[in-house]
Amino acid sequence: KPLRVAMMGLGGYANIVAKGMQECKLAKITGVISGTPSKVDTWKQKYGIPDGNVYNYDTVNQLKNNPDIDLVYVTTPNSLHHKHVLQIAAAGKHVICEKPVADNAKQAREMIAACEKAGVRFYIGYRLHFEPHTREVIRMREAGEFGKIMHVNNFMGFKIGDPTQWRLKKELAGGGAMMDVGVYALNGARYSTGEEPVWVTAQESKTDPVKFKDVDETITFQLGFPSGIIANCGCTYNFNHGERLHLMGDKGWAEMVPAFGYGPIRGNTHLGPINQPDVNHQAYQMDGIADCILNNKPDPNVTGHEGLKDMIVVDAVYESIRKGGAKIFINK
Ligand code: NAD
Repeated sequence: KPLRVAMMGLGGYANIVAKGMQECKLAKITGVISGTPSKVDTWKQKYGIPDGNVYNYDTVNQLKNNPDIDLVYVTTPNSLHHKHVLQIAAAGKHVICEKPVADNAKQAREMIAACEKAGVRFYIGYRLHFEPHTREVIRMREAGEFGKIMHVNNFMGFKIGDPTQWRLKKELAGGGAMMDVGVYALNGARYSTGEEPVWVTAQESKTDPVKFKDVDETITFQLGFPSGIIANCGCTYNFNHGERLHLMGDKGWAEMVPAFGYGPIRGNTHLGPINQPDVNHQAYQMDGIADCILNNKPDPNVTGHEGLKDMIVVDAVYESIRKGGAKIFINK
């Protein structure tokens, strides 16, 4: 029996996840939570969702009476993740929440505690941890094929369009580029090194203070790791063509360009091209998470705790910027 999933927030990314899930062997969409009846009608037809599995934002608590839904996938704007995950945990359902997990580490801790108390599993939509090129680089790093990691240089971003969208409003997005795409560079630095940062410095550059009056446009940040190495990372909402992950070891290297989008991911190491299959990221992620839940396997590096580790650093990035680029030490 597959994992039965309800999608919450039927926007752009929910549609991409749902499309990918049509390839899944272990997960299927059985429900929706939405405030827009016209979208619900389309989804009901497309995915064969029965009336009894349709909810709106005021009826989420009724999910607890529905045995046809095992897990809710939250794809609402960032600043709603905290509230929505707490509601789903209270309804006794497993949850996948999109990145960034929340607005800050305090909220992420509350979400983890709520899911633990309710006895439900809590994952973040870190799809790259299931992506074969990324997995291969992590495998090589763990096997010591790059030697000691000496430096990491990651960047993620894009030129954002519509100036009226929620991504440019702090009350719905929590922040700007750092929250949305900086998380890829940061998470990538953590899986490139296998270490957790102990300090952070950060700088913000703003070339369009009108469009980015509410949120950050471009941020560069440095992560200091226990081994003594530094990762130099960045993110933007105001230009394209910067996406890459580059790790340098004393025996080899890996460079992925593009490294974080929906694919195909491309890259090379000192041994040549990373030859791995191009897969649908969302299908692989959903089958991977479903396999953990259905077959009680150990969770991959995509739990709420992983989301919290990133949010602790995001908090430190913003604190450093507020303090004029000060070095912020991270207390776990
Ligand atoms: P979107 O604007 O396309 O969709 C958001 C959905 O939330 C819409 O259906 C909207 O109606 C609904 N919503 C509910 N309450 C709302 C409110 N008060 N205000 C505005 N919208 C409300 O956004 P998206 O691109 O689908 O992003 C959603 C989430 O998914 C974000 O957290 C984003 O970071 C994440 N995301 C992740 C990836 C990934 O690759 N993992 C890719 C894209 C987006």
